[in-house]
Amino acid sequence: MSLLSIVVPCYNEEESVPEFHRRMSAAARQSAGHYEIVFVDDGSTDRTWPLLQELAATDSSVVAVKLSRNHGHQLALTAGLTQCRGERVLVIDADLQDPPELLKPMLALLESGADVVYGQRRTRKGETKFKTATAAVFYRLLRRLVDIEIPVDAGDFRLMSRRALEVLNRMPEHHRFIRGMVSWIGMRQVPILYDRDPRYAGETKYPLRKMIRFAIDAITGFSVAPLRLASFLGAAAAALSLLLMCYTLGSWLLGETIAGWTSLTSIVLLIGSVQLIVLGIIGEYLGRLYIEAKRRPLFVIETIAVGGSVQDHEMAVAEASRS
Ligand code: UDP
Ligand code: MG
Repeated sequence: MSLLSIVVPCYNEEESVPEFHRRMSAAARQSAGHYEIVFVDDGSTDRTWPLLQELAATDSSVVAVKLSRNHGHQLALTAGLTQCRGERVLVIDADLQDPPELLKPMLALLESGADVVYGQRRTRKGETKFKTATAAVFYRLLRRLVDIEIPVDAGDFRLMSRRALEVLNRMPEHHRFIRGMVSWIGMRQVPILYDRDPRYAGETKYPLRKMIRFAIDAITGFSVAPLRLASFLGAAAAALSLLLMCYTLGSWLLGETIAGWTSLTSIVLLIGSVQLIVLGIIGEYLGRLYIEAKRRPLFVIETIAVGGSVQDHEMAVAEASRS
């Protein structure tokens, strides 16, 4: 049977890693036979890396990749996806929110001709009301803004064929919204419904600040609709100005032109803030363009540990693959 790669980004997951390794290995042994688990340590500050090294030394199915610093979930995942060698690739979080036991039905769906099998959350346990509510609104808003079909309530938990992964690995952008990029690929993508468990241990590595940044990455990465907003705001302001001009002209003709401090300040404030908002939106796109124009590597791998041997990597091996 062809090799199955399991890619797991880990950031300060010392409490979850051993249990994840146990449950994932059991699931993989049972349903895939030949497999490798590629852990990516995203610059953890706890004992995650020593733990991963130990696993790599004792379990020949484990590959431990260490990034040079914290690059963020999406880039850690990207690093793992360039390093894995399987014909089929499973992307899963280390915190056991996505049940490893789902591998079996997912593999069955892939075998039946799908290129991507994505987990779609029926329910989310142990998540704050705020997170589920904002996520629900966000995915629906995103759906309206973009042209491609991005499934709602789906995270990065998915199983992919090698040919889908090859396309994904060829996408060079820095500001990554991987679930959207996979949708963009097309081919046959099927959902598998599941109930998302609470975190096994530790706390979420996605505070509000990162969530907002991620949401902006998603929207700017897949849509220029916000830029179009400037034209709409401009048109609305022009229509309003026309009405106001008629009014002021009429007042002047009737000889009633006095005072007007309140209306004047209101207008100045309104126009000022609309202009700043539009500038901000343009800035978001321009800033991203600037970062992309530098063409820096997406991530830096410091070390890879396979079966007890440690290979020190040269800097900037973004595109290099494991030899
Ligand atoms: N993660 C990472 N780098 C980061 C933040 C998170 O590699 O900077 C990993 C984390 O260890 C976990 C996965 O990404 O395996 C998802 O993160 P988390 O569970 O905190 O997100 P949530 O499920 O709360 O959205
Ligand atoms: Mg999680």
